[in-house]
Amino acid sequence: MHTDPVPAPAETTVERIALLFALEAEAAPVVERLMLAEQPAVDPQLRQRHFAGTVGTLHVDVLTNGTDPRNGADRVGTDAATMAAYMAIRKLAPDLLLNVGTCGGFAARGARVGDIYVSAAPLLFHDRRIPLDPFRPQAEGRWPCTPAPRLMAAIGGKPGIVSTGNSLDWTPAEMDFMTRERVTAKDMEATAIAQVCAQCEVPFVAVKGVTDLVDDPEPVQEAFLRNLRTVSALLGERTEAGVRWLAAHARRVAEL
Ligand code: SAH
Repeated sequence: MHTDPVPAPAETTVERIALLFALEAEAAPVVERLMLAEQPAVDPQLRQRHFAGTVGTLHVDVLTNGTDPRNGADRVGTDAATMAAYMAIRKLAPDLLLNVGTCGGFAARGARVGDIYVSAAPLLFHDRRIPLDPFRPQAEGRWPCTPAPRLMAAIGGKPGIVSTGNSLDWTPAEMDFMTRERVTAKDMEATAIAQVCAQCEVPFVAVKGVTDLVDDPEPVQEAFLRNLRTVSALLGERTEAGVRWLAAHARRVAEL
């Protein structure tokens, strides 16, 4: 059987991108702005929603995490994100995968609600504790992202250190970890997706809009719910700008 050599990811031209969102409310503004059309579910049993379209010659797929079959709530967290990432890579064959969504920011590191962070350092897990070599690196994540300074500028984002866990709140041990690592964006999906992308050699960038401040006394769920719509609208606007920048030229991954 003849197989073409697989080009090094840095030399890949970005012709197909996939945007992964956890929440439907986060995805809706981008779907509307890019006029993407809903597609049959990639796997009806797993309930991810799939939207697709083109921007110039760039093919764009959007996948949401899907909903809990028991109550219809959007599925958040690393297990749903891992599954959606693997499905996106195998079924949609993206040249570049973006995880777009909301996050908690840190006032102590200069964040305000509405700021957008673009991953610029290996991504972490703050809620996995295995103080045992050789499992410690697995617990802490440290999965790479693709450097994307020009895409970040097109989005109007700031360079971010992203950390993922499966809770909306945090424990003192988790806060210690996030302080030590100077985390700027706390979410529930990005590092899980980065891990799948790294293993499958798919370039990956996280784009995270701040809905709430982790180090503020206000309960996170109150700030999150108050700001979800406006920050999702802003994320939609800024993500559209990034996608249109990507579509404007045939971009190599090394030029992001
Ligand atoms: N009740 C909410 C649940 C959202 S959970 C709803 O369904 O509308 C929070 C989601 O927003 C996750 O997908 C996570 O990635 C992101 N997020 C926003 N702020 C966060 C924070 N402070 N900590 C962790 N995740 C956060």
